[in-house]
Amino acid sequence: MCRHAAWLGAPASLASLIFDPGNGLLQQSYSPRLQRHGMINADGFGMGWYGEADHSPVRYRRTVPIWTDANLPGLARAARSHCLLAAVRSATAGMPVEETATAPFTDGTHLLSHNGRVDPGAVRDLADGAESTCDSAWLAAAVFLRLRAGLPLGDALAGVVTTAAAKDPEARLNLLAADGASLAATACGDTLFLHRGDHGVLVASEPLDDRPGWHAVPDRSLVLVTRGGTQVLPL
Ligand code: GLN
Repeated sequence: MCRHAAWLGAPASLASLIFDPGNGLLQQSYSPRLQRHGMINADGFGMGWYGEADHSPVRYRRTVPIWTDANLPGLARAARSHCLLAAVRSATAGMPVEETATAPFTDGTHLLSHNGRVDPGAVRDLADGAESTCDSAWLAAAVFLRLRAGLPLGDALAGVVTTAAAKDPEARLNLLAADGASLAATACGDTLFLHRGDHGVLVASEPLDDRPGWHAVPDRSLVLVTRGGTQVLPL
């Protein structure tokens, strides 16, 4: 089970998700606290952020363990945005280790990451094609197809997760997505936490630090975060 995290709020750097907190994604890549499936997340990592002028995100992803990228600390500190998303990957058995299988997936203004696993056969008919045979790439393609058809972000996530869960009852489908102005996430089979601070909201697979204020999201929930507030709805 991979680990992912996102921020919506005052401009912050990607280092605030990866390097700065005591249990940031760097720490979670080799010593996650709450991971239920897999011990380490060394099959790649990725991050995305939004520039000021352009609504499309910038995305950076690699197949190496996050701790081996010597250029990343400087890049993560320079990459600042009001909307950030990052992930570290533990590839599910049978899934390829390649850049195209590594989150965040992106399309138009959207970024998307998946914690979990699903039978690719249960999601292949939800999309026209995917950039990788990886289950997460198919889930991303299914969500992006619905977003291109005009569905709101939360509805697209909820629709794909409930359809895939009905076809594969063993599936674990924690999705985390951003569009530059909002975040949406599902808790479906794995841990998910929320932290509402004075300057913004964090959504993460597990708390990034030991500050008070982290709340566990109940399983089978949809989380919606906008500048106007945060909602947790049943899936
Ligand atoms: N199944 C996905 C992959 O192989 C996600 C894995 C995970 O959450 N560990 O990348």
